[in-house]
Amino acid sequence: MDNVKPIKPIKVPKLLIIGVDGGDYQSFLENKPSPEFNCNLMYSFKHPYMVTGAAWSSLYSGILPQNHKVTHTWGVSVPAEGRKNLIESGITTFWQHLNRHGKTVELVNLPLTYPPQALNRFMISGFPVFDHLDPATKITYPDTVRLPDEYMKYLDVVFSETKNLEVTNESAIAWIKILVEEYQSKSTEQCIELLLKYARLKLDALKLNHSNDADLVMVCYMAIDRACHVGLLNSPASVTYLYKEMNKLIMDTIKAVPADNVWVVSDHGSAGIEHRISSVFLHTGKDMRKDCDGKLTLDIIDIAPAIYYLFDLPLPVLIDGLVPYQVFEKSRVEVDQLKLKTALSSLGYI
Ligand SMILES: [Zn+2]
Repeated sequence: MDNVKPIKPIKVPKLLIIGVDGGDYQSFLENKPSPEFNCNLMYSFKHPYMVTGAAWSSLYSGILPQNHKVTHTWGVSVPAEGRKNLIESGITTFWQHLNRHGKTVELVNLPLTYPPQALNRFMISGFPVFDHLDPATKITYPDTVRLPDEYMKYLDVVFSETKNLEVTNESAIAWIKILVEEYQSKSTEQCIELLLKYARLKLDALKLNHSNDADLVMVCYMAIDRACHVGLLNSPASVTYLYKEMNKLIMDTIKAVPADNVWVVSDHGSAGIEHRISSVFLHTGKDMRKDCDGKLTLDIIDIAPAIYYLFDLPLPVLIDGLVPYQVFEKSRVEVDQLKLKTALSSLGYI
């Protein structure tokens, strides 16, 4: 058999993360994508700016909002108020850390990632994006990334009026007003269908570009948060309907990108139009602990350390989160403890 060439195995990503903006713990516990998922409570930080931009920045970096200082909803710069965007903050995001350690990433529609950053594999920017109808606007790195037809037209939040990266409260409110006006003539189901149609374009973009060379893949869907802003989630029936549809999208994403482990994370929860600090961490896969549904808690700043632990990487020096060992399979924790014991004994401590 020596002359038989081994077939090169297809590389399966070690981790697929599906970001669900505004995904609420309680609603996911009641409507899970599939029984294999363990659904646990993740706390978004308690902070005066407990909003999307600050929360995603903490999730990406493991750094508390008072330290990364990205506090604005839109993730853009408001110098007069001392607010920074993600890039200006200079914090190390998980994709930068993974890249530095030779791991490849594919990122689709992560909030605050405009303009796109150079990295090993690809990035399709998430909201807010400016001048989306200007053909010169680039939202991908590299340029060769392909986008489905209509992708640019249906970006989640866009400011086409100005190239100025400063956004005032007035323009933020104007965005919500446009959204409300657009949706008020439609039924709840029609509005949700529309939001999910836009979300499916993100999955299509991922499918078009996904390769056999990714260690980590992450895609974000904004439909739940947007449904809250236009007041669609005002009855238990509408909440159930949206979560059931979102769960189908989650399962389709897993089918399109099979991975060793799958996590579903949200930046914060939502109750009607209110944001809540109870976000969600759903997990399944070979490295993840089983039979802990509804029993565990972790903090949003623990997600980046969890990624580094899964990939066996050291934590960056500047990080506030801790590895949430409780979500991992016990044997891996034991392996870690054994490693620590060995290291301590080799140093003569024990
Ligand atoms: Zn949000």
